[in-house]
Amino acid sequence: MSEEKTKYCPYCGAQIEYRYGVCPSCGKPQPTMEGVERVQAKHVKNPLLALFLSLLVTGIGQIYLGRVGRGLFFLASVLLMGILLEGVLTFDQLMLVGLVFSIISAWDAYRIANEINRS
Ligand SMILES: [Zn+2]
Repeated sequence: MSEEKTKYCPYCGAQIEYRYGVCPSCGKPQPTMEGVERVQAKHVKNPLLALFLSLLVTGIGQIYLGRVGRGLFFLASVLLMGILLEGVLTFDQLMLVGLVFSIISAWDAYRIANEINRS
């Protein structure tokens, strides 16, 4: 267990504990691992989660990815479509239109997640 709390100093290669801010061997300040993890968490998005979220509720996958405006646009579009087409289409047809929207939204969320991960 104690091995997991150690790392190697990038300057002199000495094995030191994570909590050290300064290498006891060479005296150089250590890059904080917390900062690195925060940057990674910001960039890595799960495309399948985004896809699933948008399948569940149109636009939510985009909001998860930080594209709030885009997500709300999808959500507003599907709601507006439902209001406009109510009475024009049967319930089954409305559900079908909603399904098409959620698939387009899910595909879009999946694509955006991959784009974010590549950048
Ligand atoms: Zn060192």
